[in-house]
Order: sequence, then C-alpha cells, then structure tokens
Amino acid sequence: MTEQNQRQIMSGGCLCGSIRYEIDGHPRRTTNCHCQYCRRSSGAAFVTWIEFHPSNFRVVYGTPSRYESSPCVTRQFCGTCGTQLTYQHAKEPDTIDVTACSLDNLDAVSPEDHVWCDRMVPWVKLTDGLPQYKVGKYGE
Ligand SMILES: [Zn+2]
Ligand SMILES: [Zn+2]
Repeated sequence: MTEQNQRQIMSGGCLCGSIRYEIDGHPRRTTNCHCQYCRRSSGAAFVTWIEFHPSNFRVVYGTPSRYESSPCVTRQFCGTCGTQLTYQHAKEPDTIDVTACSLDNLDAVSPEDHVWCDRMVPWVKLTDGLPQYKVGKYGE
C-alpha cells in the first residue's frame, strides 16, 4: 500500500445503510480480538478492529446507538440492523476502534495480531501465522 493510498478517505457503514461513516487517516493498529465481549456483541467468533485517533472518524449519516459493554467501554452500533461499528475506552480518549468488516473496502485491512487468545472459541484454528497474545486491551 502506498502512502498516498493510506491517506485516502475510507468509508463504511452498517448492514441496512442507516449509519455511514468516514475515516480520514492512517490506522495505527489492526487487531483480531477474541474476548467474550466482542464475541457476544457481534455474534461472531472474533472481531477485527482498526485503531484510529477519534478525530479521524466521523459519522456522516445516521445516529449510532451506544452500549456500555463493561465499565468505561462504549460500543456504537446500528439500532436498526445491529451491526457493531466502534469501541471506545474512557481511559483511552485518544483512541477509537472501528470494526474492520464494516468498511466498504476490505483490501484496506491488514490484521497484525490476535489478542485475548485464552478466550478463543475452541473450534477456531488460526493458521495466519500472526502473533497470538493471551490477553489484550480490548474487551475489559
Ligand atoms: Zn443498520
Ligand atoms: Zn474484545
């Protein structure tokens, strides 16, 4: 990926189209989280998150619903179709994580590692060779 491509505005949204967002900036980190909170909130085995500065992220259409999934953690999602969109921790005000799979262009996604692997569902078998950490910043 060229530097020029990294500066392009990325767009994404929920399944039903009620919420649309744009991201203008370079992702700082891309992580697969296997914690139970991400699993429950998405109904999926794990969630891939892309981390940005909050100033890089803006909702351009609609109003996401919000849910405090654990103390200090707020998740935004579409109140109509349920697509999970963001994760924010009150103790990390300079960070917002966006669900990679709500992006329009999945070629922009390049996961770097797996976190909370001690909570991984038993039938997930990772073969991507990425680092696997037993714990992580997400979900607690
Ligand atoms: Zn929706
Ligand atoms: Zn998680």
